[in-house]
Amino acid sequence: MLLIPEQARTLYAHAVEHRYAILAVNADSPAACTDALLAAQACDAPIIIEASLWQLTGHSFGAGDPLLGVNRYLADLRTLADSDGFREVPVAFHTDHIKGPETLSILRHAMRAGTSSISLDSSDLSLEENIEMMSSLCTFADEHDLPATLEMEAGVDDGVTSIEATRALFGAVEDRHPGYLALWAPGVGTKHGLDRDMGGFSPDAVRAHRELASDLAGRPIGIALHGSSGLTEEQLADAVAAGVSKVNWSSESLLLRAHAARDYYRKQAVHLEKGHAEFKTTAMDHGVQTFVSDRYRPRVESRIRIQGGAGHGKVFMSLLDTRQ
Ligand SMILES: [Zn+2]
Repeated sequence: MLLIPEQARTLYAHAVEHRYAILAVNADSPAACTDALLAAQACDAPIIIEASLWQLTGHSFGAGDPLLGVNRYLADLRTLADSDGFREVPVAFHTDHIKGPETLSILRHAMRAGTSSISLDSSDLSLEENIEMMSSLCTFADEHDLPATLEMEAGVDDGVTSIEATRALFGAVEDRHPGYLALWAPGVGTKHGLDRDMGGFSPDAVRAHRELASDLAGRPIGIALHGSSGLTEEQLADAVAAGVSKVNWSSESLLLRAHAARDYYRKQAVHLEKGHAEFKTTAMDHGVQTFVSDRYRPRVESRIRIQGGAGHGKVFMSLLDTRQ
């Protein structure tokens, strides 16, 4: 079931409380969304599907128009997540790296459209601009009586964020607009992309930031981990033990899907010759997508299990039923 913002907030708090991390798959096609939900269903786990600006404007969704992208992405995901097969799978839709002059208009549109949780890319923003942007989203929610569940970030590619920055950034927004923030994404020594040196990854920083953010908010605040693709399984497990409750997964996921598609077309090249008996079934989108899916889903399931997410899906849904 696709979660509304209040339910997503409850889910993120549930992950902090029960010390697991929800996998956030940066999915760039409807087929990738389907695979992520199938993997979550197989593990009885909650899942976050997230989209960055390049996906909202990408050919599968907005085809250049990010607002159209939000609408198509949400329509597709909601239809899938609310279908009979996935009703017991908690699914959150999250805006990931949104940046540039249209950031606020895209995110306001996303909030109105019912996006489960919101974040933006702060890499080009000053400390003050970051606070202003987040505050502006809270004000918009206040003025339009919209629920909003927010993730705030700071320097996720710039080594380890100082504890003072958590006070100055997270603390400032929480102070001005109490209750909207649910996740905090400081730099903890990871980097976006693959083949990066993750030697600087610091579970101690995760722990310190989680404790301070939770103190500042007076409620459990989980750490959102960006740049997880290059981490070892052991580092990932350490991150979760230290208080990561959302793990963003993009580069490795993209590569897995791209390599599978490459292998499919290489293996089946002869079938694609004109006149071959299996030309049509090989050429159909269904052909390549099922091949990719068979390779990809076990890897998604493995990630979910390493992060401790397995077995929390139906339990969480029953908790929602009793709370509402
Ligand atoms: Zn990221």
